[in-house]
Amino acid sequence: MKLVATGITDVGRRRDRNEDAFLINDEMQLFVVADGMGGHVGGSYASTMAVTTIEDEVGKLLLADPGDADPVDFLREGLAGAVNAAGARIFGVASDNPSWKGMGTTVVVVLVVGTNAFVAHVGDSRVYTMRDGDIEQITDDHSLVAESVREGLLTEEQARRHKMRNVITRALGFHAEVEVDVQVRAVTRGDRFLLCSDGLSGKLEPREMLDLLDAHAPLEAARQLVIQACARGGEDNITAVTVHVENAA
Ligand code: CA
Repeated sequence: MKLVATGITDVGRRRDRNEDAFLINDEMQLFVVADGMGGHVGGSYASTMAVTTIEDEVGKLLLADPGDADPVDFLREGLAGAVNAAGARIFGVASDNPSWKGMGTTVVVVLVVGTNAFVAHVGDSRVYTMRDGDIEQITDDHSLVAESVREGLLTEEQARRHKMRNVITRALGFHAEVEVDVQVRAVTRGDRFLLCSDGLSGKLEPREMLDLLDAHAPLEAARQLVIQACARGGEDNITAVTVHVENAA
């Protein structure tokens, strides 16, 4: 697989600090977005720690011998383990030091190995896929409003405006262990992924994101996503990473 990735993060228009972090590791074909929260500078510390720990752990995973295990299962479980290791590390630092207490972060991860994309997430950052002119959100937000929508208690529209829309039900760093959702998807030439924080997905409809991504070269498209999110208020930090599968060789 030949992948071309680009990423951008922006503080937005209202916040003093950017607590989002992202990673593009072309060699490992590893892409991460994390949206940190809590404390004075705890949010940016947590999101950065998530990104660096996942990079280290996935680096080890890719060198590890699966032995008799099914290679896809091995990677799926290994990626969940890598994300959990990041959560445990953040939790450990937060527990040991009162000034870091309460910090945590969401995370979305796309790892491409062979013709498979391993997609992991915790919290309400999102991954979208684009194929054949369509865009689809493939991660289920771990948030109060998204769970209420899934249970039929709120409509999508009510959820979008709900005053508790920012309350997340899972994060890295709040507990020593966290349940990590991991899915495996076959990738093919022409596929695209968008990883983003809620500072973007809360402001633009998926269709609008797709239109911008179609209309511009990747880096300019990412810039346009930020400009649009800012034009609609920019109350939160905004991060977007795009990954294009250029060929399947
Ligand atoms: Ca956010």
